[in-house]
Amino acid sequence: MPVQCSNCVQRRAVLKRPKTGHSLCKDCFFWAFEEEIHQTILSAGLFNRGETVAIGASGGKDSTVLAHVMKVLNERYDYGLNLLLLSVDEGITGYRDDSLETVKRNQQQYELPLKIVSYEELYGWTMDAIVKQVGLKNNCTFCGVFRRQALDRGAMMLKVDKICTGHNADDVAETVLMNVLRGDIARLRRCTSISTASDGEGAIPRCKPLKYAYEKEIVLYAYFKKLDYFSTECIYSPNAYRGHARAFLKDLESIRPSSIIDVIHSGETLSVKEGVKMPVQGMCSRCGYISSQALCKSCVLLEGLNRGLPKLGIGKHHRLHGKILAQEPLTEQEEKKLKAVDF
Ligand code: SF4
Ligand code: ZN
Repeated sequence: MPVQCSNCVQRRAVLKRPKTGHSLCKDCFFWAFEEEIHQTILSAGLFNRGETVAIGASGGKDSTVLAHVMKVLNERYDYGLNLLLLSVDEGITGYRDDSLETVKRNQQQYELPLKIVSYEELYGWTMDAIVKQVGLKNNCTFCGVFRRQALDRGAMMLKVDKICTGHNADDVAETVLMNVLRGDIARLRRCTSISTASDGEGAIPRCKPLKYAYEKEIVLYAYFKKLDYFSTECIYSPNAYRGHARAFLKDLESIRPSSIIDVIHSGETLSVKEGVKMPVQGMCSRCGYISSQALCKSCVLLEGLNRGLPKLGIGKHHRLHGKILAQEPLTEQEEKKLKAVDF
């Protein structure tokens, strides 16, 4: 017998909500999903009327759903936001070039302006070239650091007030787990916050409107809305550590669906004992980006690439920053250590 929607009690249910277990029809699911995001935006006060907001768009399901829902809510509730799409082209042949085609279609479908910034124009390196030099073990470190800064630079070019990204509840819970497993207290404290304030020059406030949206529901929403998104994985994707955290979380979710939200709540309510040493945010003396060291991570990684010493930015080599800044040569021994690459 067909199951009735438990909300409207009129139409046939087409799905069981992964988050609540409720059987819902398509329309009631759309409404519930969108309303929860609206409530998230309201209760965290994510936006103010009149602001220009860049939506970080990769063409993947999360950012496509984010762009769609932001547009719907902006119109339905008259947020008064000026929305636009901002994409980063990492320079990954066979992956990003295809997904950017999706973003270009989204631009048409949602009638939003689109800006694309590329690693090549910002750093002089594509991910294809970086992988050739550094191999497939640490490539995501380069990519992640560069993407973060690239989004900021793109946002600055566009003079936006805020950036919102498609990070979902699963992503946040995974990050909490990873930071617990690594004992990274500073990140653990930061990673659950729904928005980052502008901490000094060089950083545009970011927020995650999908912070409480389950990945499974994002997929269902995109599927039933027939959204146009790109679902291929990056060809350079090892990210093994996150992969394990993800698999672990999925196992927990299958036994207890609330595990995802529970992990996020644990992260949110964690408080750090007084006296625990936290990195002090300053400014990169080379590029002006926020950094807790003399040089920001991006500049160190780039220096490593340009000098043919890819390990410079991997691991702790802070004491070498002074030498780099002064453009001093490294000793033979220092060079040798930084050259070794594990493929
Ligand atoms: Fe970049 Fe790694 Fe993501 Fe590929 S998987 S886009 S290399 S961070
Ligand atoms: Zn820098």
